[in-house]
Amino acid sequence: MVALLKPAYRAEPSFEDVLARYPRFPRLVALKIDVQRRGVHYTERAEKAVDPARHQLRSPYIFGSRDGAIKPLPESLLLRDGGTILVDPTPLAQDPYVVDYEDGRFVLLDDGRAVEEIDLWPKPAYYDKLTTSGIKMSLLVTARPQRLNVFQSSYCQFWVDDKGCKFCDIVTHTKQQRDEIGVPNRLRPEDIAEVIAEALKEPGRFSNICLTSGSVVKGPEVFDQEVDFYIELLQAIGTNFKTRRFPSQLIASAFNERQLARLYENTGLTSYTSDLEVFTADKFDWICPGKAKWVGYAGWRDRLIGAVDIFGRGNVGTCIVAGAELAKPYGFANEDEAIKADLEEAEYLAERGVTTVSIVWVPRPGSAFHDQVNASLDYYIRLAQGLQDLRARYGLSVDFDDYRRCGNHPDSDLARLQ
Ligand code: SF4
Repeated sequence: MVALLKPAYRAEPSFEDVLARYPRFPRLVALKIDVQRRGVHYTERAEKAVDPARHQLRSPYIFGSRDGAIKPLPESLLLRDGGTILVDPTPLAQDPYVVDYEDGRFVLLDDGRAVEEIDLWPKPAYYDKLTTSGIKMSLLVTARPQRLNVFQSSYCQFWVDDKGCKFCDIVTHTKQQRDEIGVPNRLRPEDIAEVIAEALKEPGRFSNICLTSGSVVKGPEVFDQEVDFYIELLQAIGTNFKTRRFPSQLIASAFNERQLARLYENTGLTSYTSDLEVFTADKFDWICPGKAKWVGYAGWRDRLIGAVDIFGRGNVGTCIVAGAELAKPYGFANEDEAIKADLEEAEYLAERGVTTVSIVWVPRPGSAFHDQVNASLDYYIRLAQGLQDLRARYGLSVDFDDYRRCGNHPDSDLARLQ
């Protein structure tokens, strides 16, 4: 059968044609992938139907959007099965899905055809409140449907000598956020503790607190100062809990064993993630030159494995920006090669107790890779299934990063089905 080709942006088989090759793969997870891959555009009718009293509008985030703008559009989308789609507003020229409003409901359109009913993220009650220091709470702690995000600083020191990761726009984006909506450069622990206390008053909504930001290389040992910042913040957040440990994830630099032990012993942190971003040393050296300079690929991987002794199997993870390893000109020559290498590395880590999750790479205007195109739907389906199969084979949980606690990983969405 000849596959239907999409007319715009890039010629490729239709969603239905790709999905037909994987009859056991859940349709809504595939749709989530494709929406993240292509982005969304909101029609005027959809924009008018957004209710700022009920729907969460875009709030500060560590990375920017595909249209490079900060606008009062919906934060993101919810699927009928409770799955989330974290997705950016995207210029129409890039052939995004379209979000429209018809007959009293939001719908997703592809090529003008309604393909799925969707909903918008509900706004948390604390979003309209101020801290006692007078800062709008939504600028300090942002929400996903079931998770709270704390972005501790708006800078990554790998950018100092132009060694930021090539898919990343943290510095360009957070400068824009600071200038246009007044997000503070650095968060004060007492403000964060206050916002978390307020957020937790909403019954049953939040199941995890995630902290992340750019790397801080300063200190007697590389990253010591970054560890200090997180300990301070986690201790302040911990005052809201009666138990010593509380559901939490830190996504940070690759700390050495002394630093990890300090974090674990002095805070209530329950899980630790340090992103390798792209697998295999040569791709990592090219795409993540700051990480390569300060720690190196083998060192970063060894530190992840070392963290398992402290946080335990299934509580240590790494994320890959799936598709970036295919970037031109030095990426893998084709998707088969990339998937083979990705799954081999993920298996090496799984054998040693480290979970790998993936996100769909979004080429953002503020990043060095702004003019690249991400991978095919076929690639993302195969990778997601491969990563979940490895977790199942090695008995690794992904509870700290699953569809409720995170919602940004198509592969960990599969964990609830198997
Ligand atoms: S480590 Fe890389 S991905 Fe993370 S903030 Fe720095 S440049 Fe961006």
